[in-house]
Amino acid sequence: MQKPIEVLKEYIRFASVSTDPAYAEGMLGARRFATGLLEQLGFVVEVVETELHPILLADRIGDPTWPHIVIYAHYDVQPADPFSQWTDDPFDPTVRDGRLYGRGAADNKGPTIVHMAALSRVLAANPDLPLNITYVIEGEEEIGSPSMPKFFDQYAERLSKADFILVSDTGSPNSEQIVITTALRGLVDLEIKLRGSKCDLHSGIHGGAVYNPNQALMEICASLHNSDGSVNVPGFYDDVVPVFAWEREELKRYPETVDSYRELLDVPAFYPANGLNPLEAVRFGPTLEFNGIGGGYQGEGSKTVIPSEAFAKITCRLVANQDPVKIQAQVVAAIKERCPKGVTLTVREGGIAEAYLVIPPDRPNAPDDQPASFARAFKAADAAIGAKFGKPPIYLREGGSIPVIADFKKRAGLDALMIGLFTPVDNLHAPDEGFSLPLMENAISAFEEIIQNIAIGK
Ligand SMILES: [Zn+2]
Repeated sequence: MQKPIEVLKEYIRFASVSTDPAYAEGMLGARRFATGLLEQLGFVVEVVETELHPILLADRIGDPTWPHIVIYAHYDVQPADPFSQWTDDPFDPTVRDGRLYGRGAADNKGPTIVHMAALSRVLAANPDLPLNITYVIEGEEEIGSPSMPKFFDQYAERLSKADFILVSDTGSPNSEQIVITTALRGLVDLEIKLRGSKCDLHSGIHGGAVYNPNQALMEICASLHNSDGSVNVPGFYDDVVPVFAWEREELKRYPETVDSYRELLDVPAFYPANGLNPLEAVRFGPTLEFNGIGGGYQGEGSKTVIPSEAFAKITCRLVANQDPVKIQAQVVAAIKERCPKGVTLTVREGGIAEAYLVIPPDRPNAPDDQPASFARAFKAADAAIGAKFGKPPIYLREGGSIPVIADFKKRAGLDALMIGLFTPVDNLHAPDEGFSLPLMENAISAFEEIIQNIAIGK
């Protein structure tokens, strides 16, 4: 393999925006480029057709007694718009001050090249490395991985023969402090609409006679939280996994305090529920949020009107062990029960995703059926990251969601080692996305050791 930074630049030049059909050529280019890299590394690559962007499924399989890992990544990127906010062309990568700028540099092309560069160095030194590796690189992550359920229908059994998955599509607080992510939150999406009269009404002629949908909406929404910030939906917290003592200890090493976090967000005060501090609440607790709310006159000045309709867009972030189907039903039931008779309620139940949690093999409550290679991978990651970055990793749950990780567990029984390689300054999904080159070099060295250690015996 060429110099990793040159490979990454070339990869970024393929504008693989999955959401926009105008970028079909970039998608094809990125897919072919990744295929070429995998073939250079000795993989047999299968292009799995989907309704939209094919998935790359690549194998380097030798002796069945060797350890077997699955590496998951995605070759698609977010749109670069608005282009005017970029310092340089997002699809013609540039290096400034030790950072490589370009769309996809951090999410997820840089981390993908880190894995491949490490693997290429390990295989150059030891072509007979006793490690089976399967790559799954999808092209629809940025649009919600719609083809992955079908992919699992077809390949879950084959994937289930592996030991675990390795992923670098999560974050770390800065380029010296790496986080190993131990959990991802799940998601429930819904939208409610309240209809009163058949059209907007004069508030002088009809005011006092009818239930204003805005008022009904506010009453329903206000009822969904208690005054302490907790969610007021019966059963909502029933299945929440407790916070382990070691997790609170890990969080203490996180290079952010409640004060620095408050300054970062510039909020007057925090409002975390259930006795968690704000840094804990975004990782350990479930939420119910109003993402959008509307109804009635929104223009300049005033208008004496009773709107005919009002709506709210609601999502919940869920923690491990909460069943999204059950939570969605509980929230909908609470809303129906609290909806006054004067308005008609319609509910659109949107997508759901399960949360994911893995307990690292060396922790007290770890399950005893985790493969030995998984335990070795964590141990090697701890040592190698400590040595290359100067600080051992922090083991932490993350507030965000990557539904496909929970699906690997549910469908193929695979747990995940998630090593975060992007940081807050990398501007994911935003203008001037970039990737730290020193982090990239340290990460390649760390992954060399991790891969070597996984390969030692089953
Ligand atoms: Zn990503």
